[in-house]
Amino acid sequence: MTPESGFPEAFVRRLDTILPPGILRGTVAAMAGPQAVGFRVNSLKATVDKVLAGLPVDAEPLPWLPGAFVVPAGHRQPLLDSDAFATGAIWIQNPSSMIPPVVLAPEAGESVLDLAAAPGSKTLQIACAMGPGADIAAVEVARPRFYRLKRNLRAQGAAWVKTFHRDGVTVPRYRADHFDRVLIDAPCSTEAQMRPDDPASFAHWSEKKVRTMAGKQRRLLEAAVRCARPGGVIVYSTCSFAPEENEMVVQHVLECFGDEVAIEPIALDIPGRLPGLPGWKDAEFDGSLSRAMRVLPDGVYEAFFVCRLRKR
Ligand code: SAM
Repeated sequence: MTPESGFPEAFVRRLDTILPPGILRGTVAAMAGPQAVGFRVNSLKATVDKVLAGLPVDAEPLPWLPGAFVVPAGHRQPLLDSDAFATGAIWIQNPSSMIPPVVLAPEAGESVLDLAAAPGSKTLQIACAMGPGADIAAVEVARPRFYRLKRNLRAQGAAWVKTFHRDGVTVPRYRADHFDRVLIDAPCSTEAQMRPDDPASFAHWSEKKVRTMAGKQRRLLEAAVRCARPGGVIVYSTCSFAPEENEMVVQHVLECFGDEVAIEPIALDIPGRLPGLPGWKDAEFDGSLSRAMRVLPDGVYEAFFVCRLRKR
């Protein structure tokens, strides 16, 4: 189907080996088509009723996350022009990106670490879920992105979140066995964001890039496990299709930590969700990886991989 798909040929060839049979065309078409716009009401600043009453467009609720909504692609601009957006009463975020904090499920009184946090969509979602003053630490290594994270947290009413400009891999030196919940929404090859009408979106994609990201992800997920307290929850996510960045990273950590970590099921009704792969090419994965979740693009949801682990 390449080159007419508009995506790099190697990407589409790989995708065909990752997806279940018969859905390559539909998946590629969804990535190329119009993309609905998701948003969350920022409960630190506004109520759902007040926001909805003032919005210039009708929004459809996401059934699995109170205060989260979707509007059709054509309504992006009115949403961006709304008072709610200007005042920080809403935060625009794809529904798939809202899944990891829901799977993390932080509770009041707990301590939470977001190990790769900028620009802060998921840190903010965690802050909304836990409420003002909650014990949340957000780490970001890239300086401009760190300051963007800080600006976003301040503008959205979450200035109390502790922020650290640091390589997440080093955090276990300071806070090993500490946090109740750790999110690692890892830097990745961002395959889900690739669009055929935007060559810049895949200008840096290559199989080598996928392998490079996988190395970083393995180190970050290892650090996340070390930072969690025994009994704590770790959520790993990417917006890539690549097994090297998803199942293989989790498999690596299962092998490193042995009985110390286990994958937990994710009870969330997401349309078109698939289990983690049982294997890929020559590699066979631990059977518990079927508890991980792959989300496929469908014009509303972007591609995502989410896995929830518990440290024993
Ligand atoms: N969770 C964020 C959100 O929802 O807004 C998106 C995170 S983005 C997928 C990954 C982030 O990790 C990038 O901002 C990147 O700069 C940062 N990063 C990359 N390597 C890192 C490291 N070693 N330690 C901490 N952050 C890192």
